[in-house]
Amino acid sequence: MKQPIKVTSPIQLKHFDPAFCDNLDKDEAREKTTKMCERLAELHDLLYANANQAVLIVLQGMDASGKDGATRRLLEFVSPLMIETTSFKRPSVEELAHDYLWRVHKAVPRYGHIGVFNRSHYEDVLVVRVMKLQPDKVWRARFEEINQFEKHLTENRVIILKFFLHVSKEEQAERLKARLEDKRKNWKFEVADLDMRAKWSEFQDAYEDVLNKCSTPWAPWHIVPADRKWYRDYVIARTVVDRLEKLNLNWPKPHADLSKIKIV
Ligand code: AMP
Ligand code: MG
Repeated sequence: MKQPIKVTSPIQLKHFDPAFCDNLDKDEAREKTTKMCERLAELHDLLYANANQAVLIVLQGMDASGKDGATRRLLEFVSPLMIETTSFKRPSVEELAHDYLWRVHKAVPRYGHIGVFNRSHYEDVLVVRVMKLQPDKVWRARFEEINQFEKHLTENRVIILKFFLHVSKEEQAERLKARLEDKRKNWKFEVADLDMRAKWSEFQDAYEDVLNKCSTPWAPWHIVPADRKWYRDYVIARTVVDRLEKLNLNWPKPHADLSKIKIV
């Protein structure tokens, strides 16, 4: 089943196979991903040198959908000096004393940087909705607020790429089991994750709404089949590199006539 990943018209998640891999060969895809991640580092050098645009990558998905792994892989070759990653957790008392976008706006990367949001403002229409942390009226208004917020950012030269890591309930079970069984993964296991898992279909509905209401021409959503880690990484790397290639970045011109400068 061939699947478009960029959401351009109303979708139903059940039509998207989390195990889809486009019949690619795993090893070949991995090699290509490595090359694309190396290319990303080159493109990012240009972005950094020009320092007049930022790239914001938003990762959302159920627990164990691979947000951490995808971040590590994508940014493998990028200088840590040029990246800003933020993992959004349950809001602190201080954060709850502000509007929900306050902590988000502060975390937007500066020009020249790539930022990754590991979870994001979308939690405010996902977990907040499903776990009933706010009345319906409050979170419903947020779809449009988020679209406007992202419009503001893109008009101010922040390029936004949003990825929904679409994992199956069965694959999540395998990954959560590994967190229980493998000592090195025990720390990742949170009992509260099971409450979220118990509400799987409510979360799928909430994600469907997010994808349908907040995939805009200025900040599109991409559905990433995430049951196979190597294909997940391939899709994300390809999408990010394609977007950056389209910027046609060049090295900035020097501020002075360098030909007259002598280093003694
Ligand atoms: P993790 O990403 O596994 O470290 O877990 C972070 C937890 O914080 C997840 O269960 C999220 O649903 C939760 N979280 C993130 N943002 C919010 C929010 N705005 N309101 C409530 N819970 C949130
Ligand atoms: Mg977790």
